[in-house]
Amino acid sequence: MLENPTKSEGKCLFCGKTFAKASINRHLKTHLEEKAGNGSAGVSYLVKVETAQRRGYGSTPYFLSLWIDGEATMKTIDKFLRDIWLECCGHLSAFRVSMKQRSMNNPMQFIRNSMYNMSFDNDGDIAMSKKVKSVFRSKDLKIDYEYDFGSTTALQLTAIDIFPIKADKKIVLISRNEPIGWLCDKCGKEKATQVCSICEDESIFCDKCASKHAEECEDFADYASMPVVNSPRMGVCGYVGGVIDKERD
Ligand SMILES: [Zn+2]
Ligand SMILES: [Zn+2]
Ligand SMILES: [Zn+2]
Ligand SMILES: [Zn+2]
Repeated sequence: MLENPTKSEGKCLFCGKTFAKASINRHLKTHLEEKAGNGSAGVSYLVKVETAQRRGYGSTPYFLSLWIDGEATMKTIDKFLRDIWLECCGHLSAFRVSMKQRSMNNPMQFIRNSMYNMSFDNDGDIAMSKKVKSVFRSKDLKIDYEYDFGSTTALQLTAIDIFPIKADKKIVLISRNEPIGWLCDKCGKEKATQVCSICEDESIFCDKCASKHAEECEDFADYASMPVVNSPRMGVCGYVGGVIDKERD
């Protein structure tokens, strides 16, 4: 369903202008650099969150741009991600140093990263109690995140830049993709409103095609009908939407 042709863009929380996914973080950085000139001393990070790219799957239009305070813990980020994109039934989750980073072919990067990894468990898990400032220690560091080790939603967090000031809150949502506006797989014309969590080829439907699908797909009629929501966990397990930033859900 992610091949549906769409564009991904987000609004800047600071000035309200809209930017494409590819340029929003460059723009957000200019606001944070400006704020860094007169904010109170501390450390904070511009972090982009995207879906992890897996073999055979490209990037998706979903993104979050977060301004995170260094004093926040990984647990705070975990809670935020659950609240905006993920929580369905209290599954386990974990942060890990990106595999890509652990096998980096740049020798100095490799040495630095392997030293850095010594503070993590053997499998690279980062403790939830760790402060963000002790994890995001270098620019461009990538952290993998997984929610639910069964029907997993895999994300990747990248520290795009570091600023010598406190963030306004532990985590400030400074942009996210606007609702995607998926089209119905069946008619290709109407806006999709429902997902069938069982079917694979044709799985998102407008209201009209959803009622037709309910006649052909018993599971959909019974329990597999899920709402279209603004999250990479749409249609997965019992996910029906977030609890923060609901107006863009
Ligand atoms: Zn702006
Ligand atoms: Zn679940
Ligand atoms: Zn339709
Ligand atoms: Zn179905």
